[in-house]
This record gives sequence, C-alpha cells and structure tokens, in this order.
Amino acid sequence: MQRHDEVVVGKTRVKLIQGDITEQETDAIVNAANSALAGGGGVDGAIHRAGGPAIMEECHRIITQIGRLETGKAVITSGGKLKAKYVIHTVGPVWRGGTGGEAKLLTSAYQESLRLASEYGLKSISFPSISTGAYGYPVAEAARVALRAVVDFLRQCETSLQEVYFVLYDARTYNTYTSKLAELAN
Ligand code: ADP
Repeated sequence: MQRHDEVVVGKTRVKLIQGDITEQETDAIVNAANSALAGGGGVDGAIHRAGGPAIMEECHRIITQIGRLETGKAVITSGGKLKAKYVIHTVGPVWRGGTGGEAKLLTSAYQESLRLASEYGLKSISFPSISTGAYGYPVAEAARVALRAVVDFLRQCETSLQEVYFVLYDARTYNTYTSKLAELAN
C-alpha cells in the first residue's frame, strides 16, 4: 500500500511521526482531554504526568470559569515542565457508531485547536490521534477525518503555523494515518 508521511499545504508542512507526544518540542502539543479537564488515562494522563501540576491548576481555573469544555472546543494552558510552551486541550467525540455527528465534532476538535494556535501566533503544533483510544473512534475513519480537517483548515484559514505534526503512539495507528494521507494526496 502506498504511504505518505508528509504533505505541504500553502506554507505549512503536515508531518506524521511515530512517537510520544510529551517529548515533542513544538510550540504546543494537543491533549485529547475530557469535558471536565480532569485528567485521566491515555495521552491525557501522560501529558499531566510529564508536565507537572501547574497544567492541572490552570485546567481547574478554566473549569471554574466555564463549567465544562464542550466536545469539539479547545482551550490553552502553559506547558508546565514540558518542552512545549503550551498545551491545547480539546475534547474529541466518544464513538457511538458514527450517526451522532462524530465526524463533525472530531473535525471541530482539530480545527478549534488550530484556530487557537493561530491566535497565539504559534509556529508549530503536535496532535495525538484524538478519540481513537478510550473514546473508541475507529482509527481508519478518525485518520481520514483528522487529516481532512487539518488540510481544509490550512487551505481556508490564515495561520502562523509552519509545521503541524501528528505524533502517533503505536505502529498500527501510524501506518493507518500514512495510508490515509496517501489517499488524500492522490
Ligand atoms: P481518547 O480518549 O480521545 O480516545 P486516548 O488518550 O485514550 O484518547 O487515546 C488517543 C490516542 O493517543 C491513542 O492512539 C493512544 O494510543 C495515544 N497515546 C497514548 N499515549 C500517548 C502519548 N504519550 N503520545 C502520543 N499518543 C499517545
């Protein structure tokens, strides 16, 4: 199967890598958070463990102000002890079979994160594979939606971003994203 790990859209490079998002040196990394910004397992737990308590303190302050972070929305905190300066917390949809507007909500989670990064003038950002762990979104469908969301945003919106990374934890997820990027590029 043909694979692609990189595509350039306008002035922005979109690159797929396999790795641990907590080690990335991009200006921001994105957290696949929950609506309570309460931390948890998966990538959320890994980011809070690596970033230290300052990130959770900021999350508590945000939740005190807004109540809950709706699915598809995004907020920003500092990166605490991480190499990344910021963490953008977004909430992807829980998979309910595909008829509950999941694709639209997943698109929104990516695009709201990109919008926030652009508002902050950031040059680089790393995404995990939002919703494909505990939230159960099938990886092939999520990869198609995620890549389309990012490419559409970069085509349609002004942005400071020069590099958008997908940091995919396991080989199966990485391989699925590369084959979906090949389909998008064709
Ligand atoms: P969700 O609740 O949105 O499904 P999860 O954290 O359960 O989020 O899973 C999302 C994806 O993040 C999965 O592919 C999981 O393997 C991956 N993941 C877990 N830890 C890390 C990490 N340190 N860096 C990058 N991706 C990670």
